[in-house]
Amino acid sequence: MAKKDINWGELGFGYIQTDYRYVSNWKDGAWDDGALTTDASVVLNECAGVLQYAQTVFEGLKAYTTEDGRIVTFRPDLNAERLEQSAKRLEIPAFPQERFIDAVKQVVKANADYVPPFGSGATLYLRPYMFGSNPVIGVKPATEYQFRIFCTPVGPYFKGGAKPLTIKVSDYDRAAPCGTGNIKAGLNYAMSLHAIVTAHDEGYAENMYLDSKTRTNVEETGGANFLFITKDGKVVTPKSDTILPSITRRSLIYVAQHYLGLEAEERVVPFEEVKDMAECGLCGTAAVISPVGKIVDHGKEICLPSGMNEMGPITKKLYDTLTGIQMGRIEAPEGWIYEIG
Ligand SMILES: *Cc1c(COP(=O)(O)O)cnc(C)c1O
Repeated sequence: MAKKDINWGELGFGYIQTDYRYVSNWKDGAWDDGALTTDASVVLNECAGVLQYAQTVFEGLKAYTTEDGRIVTFRPDLNAERLEQSAKRLEIPAFPQERFIDAVKQVVKANADYVPPFGSGATLYLRPYMFGSNPVIGVKPATEYQFRIFCTPVGPYFKGGAKPLTIKVSDYDRAAPCGTGNIKAGLNYAMSLHAIVTAHDEGYAENMYLDSKTRTNVEETGGANFLFITKDGKVVTPKSDTILPSITRRSLIYVAQHYLGLEAEERVVPFEEVKDMAECGLCGTAAVISPVGKIVDHGKEICLPSGMNEMGPITKKLYDTLTGIQMGRIEAPEGWIYEIG
């Protein structure tokens, strides 16, 4: 086996087709055995459920090379569990969690030549997803589904690394205000596209969405949860039933409490409080933590004391510890690192 001839250090966050992907089909009430395939195309009937009523959910996780040369993934069991919860909300049959993990391993193993080397800053991003595949014209769930996992080598999500971002408070809702904000589904992303394009046109990196009911509490951005550090060094993250339970955020809270001895709480965070915070970061698989330096609320600027040049000191500690755990430099809690055999 030889690594593919890719300039790992120059990779952006984009799609590069790899050799293998995993496919399993649901028909007559059961999943078939599933298999790897080299065929990257999905051929669907024009009336497929996913194309008409957006019946599709997804996940995102990474495989990467540790400092000592092992290929691993980070907490894929939580992706398996979350995909099942997302699927349930959209009437998509569950894909068994142990089969999900097995499929992840198969895809990484088959595409091992695409796993970027340690130290390159790049990773192999895995995209599991499920969608209604048979024709549906009346409003009802599909009766046939496809589960797939493809992968693509990616560089850092935000070019320029850890430079603090300027974000804006959005006038839009991130997700439909009907409680689907806690599932990882294209329908929520479709809702956010106009808002993100508008924010980018105005020079902002991201949107801060407030809760759609009262517009007073911090929810999340389009694809990352918020983490704040108070002036007395406490880690605070918004509690809400309508945000996506980020695996990165949950891991960072654990790291804060058990590795760094910090107090951490998940609670409602009124937007009013944000001006008193010391640090702010966005957490998700793609970037781990992206520091926020400035939040603009309809022309009113909130400048975080950590500034526009670097990550705040506690954010940096959280970042270094979690990435240290992921890369094998720091001992991981039991069950966090899955080795690809
Ligand atoms: C995927 C996602 C996140 C980040 O979750 P991770 O599990 O940390 O990758 C946050 N918010 C939304 C809306 C997401 O889709």
